[in-house]
Amino acid sequence: MSNATDYGKGLREVASGVFAYLQPDGGYGYSNAGLITGSRSALLVDTLIDLPRTREMLTAMRAVIPAAGISSVVNTHAHPDHTAGNELLSGAEIITSATTLAEMEQLDRGANPIRAIMESWQRHGDAGAYLHEVMGRRFAVHQGRQVMPSRVFEDQLTVDVGGREARLVRVGPAHTQGDVVVYLPAERVLFTGDVVFSRVHPLVTAGMADAWIAACERLLEWDIQVLVPGHGPVTDSSALLALAGYLRYLREESRERFNDGMDYTTAAASLDLGGYLGWADEERIVMTVAGFYESFGASKFAMADVLGAAWRYRGTRRRRGTAVAHRVDDRTTARGHLERRHHARRSGPPARDRDQVRCIGDAGAGSDPATGRRTAAHNDLPARRAGSAVRPRRARGHLRAASDAGADRGIPVGCAGG
Ligand SMILES: [Zn+2]
Repeated sequence: MSNATDYGKGLREVASGVFAYLQPDGGYGYSNAGLITGSRSALLVDTLIDLPRTREMLTAMRAVIPAAGISSVVNTHAHPDHTAGNELLSGAEIITSATTLAEMEQLDRGANPIRAIMESWQRHGDAGAYLHEVMGRRFAVHQGRQVMPSRVFEDQLTVDVGGREARLVRVGPAHTQGDVVVYLPAERVLFTGDVVFSRVHPLVTAGMADAWIAACERLLEWDIQVLVPGHGPVTDSSALLALAGYLRYLREESRERFNDGMDYTTAAASLDLGGYLGWADEERIVMTVAGFYESFGASKFAMADVLGAAWRYRGTRRRRGTAVAHRVDDRTTARGHLERRHHARRSGPPARDRDQVRCIGDAGAGSDPATGRRTAAHNDLPARRAGSAVRPRRARGHLRAASDAGADRGIPVGCAGG
């Protein structure tokens, strides 16, 4: 599958007539998009953060778009780095989930504190400096007109792209409430939007990590050969394992520090990032830990305070340098856990269409393909909790599990840059 050497900017064919458009390093605003072509029509998965970048992408796609042009666009979620270029696709039907449309309308109506800070960033201290650095100075954000989707669905919609079947499935809440993924059952290609950040620290909304983990587990049941994440290099379903492991790890580590009375900035700074070192936008862990603290009962933190803390974390880490690999001494346990999870996988997406889908390594729902024995499928999580007496070692095991998820599939660890 993918590796660092083919994570370059631009269009990349991931299956015959199916393309990913990649923007390294996958950090803020550097999102991926997709293009699915059929006879006489094409479907675009997401637009980009501004009009110049979307225009550049459409130019790069020109040679592979059928003469009739792009007939449909899917917005995987409401964030501008996946929707702000819609204006350039006004001739196409723009599709998303009803929930994402509601979220887009909310952002567009001015209930958007991020936008408010960016527009007068000099007056917002560290929070303003942060948003200006990672987005404001790089992109022409919010300078176009937000064109809204013209067609919505609740849970699932199948689209015929010139003879090619594309299934649009709402899997949110995860990264947002309305997240949509686009699945091609014949090609076994999945475009996840920001339900997957690959080798990039995810942006986690407070209170939604558990739902996000559940969404990852749902997608792990699907038959996926190629996974195009919302940010980061093209990968496969190992990125789902890595992300779910990451979210569990941060949740557990945050809870322990919360229970110890540690404040969230100190908690974030004290985290052992192990296998996640080198993922882009590391300072997002400050926001994630703050969100976990809120879900554990801390009173809500002001967004500007959290963003400012992330900016200071970023400065500290940059001065110190983060490219230090940690020794991990309990690989066997972590690997065993990872393999259990793989083997417990069941066939998928979506359940009603299961008969149409080929499944890799699937020896029947709930059985281990290696042994034929029944497995607990989703229920192997308690095994991890049961080991809580040896938490520090187990925590490192988590990290190793996540990085092994990549290493086992040929995805290099520590290469996302940024
Ligand atoms: Zn997003």
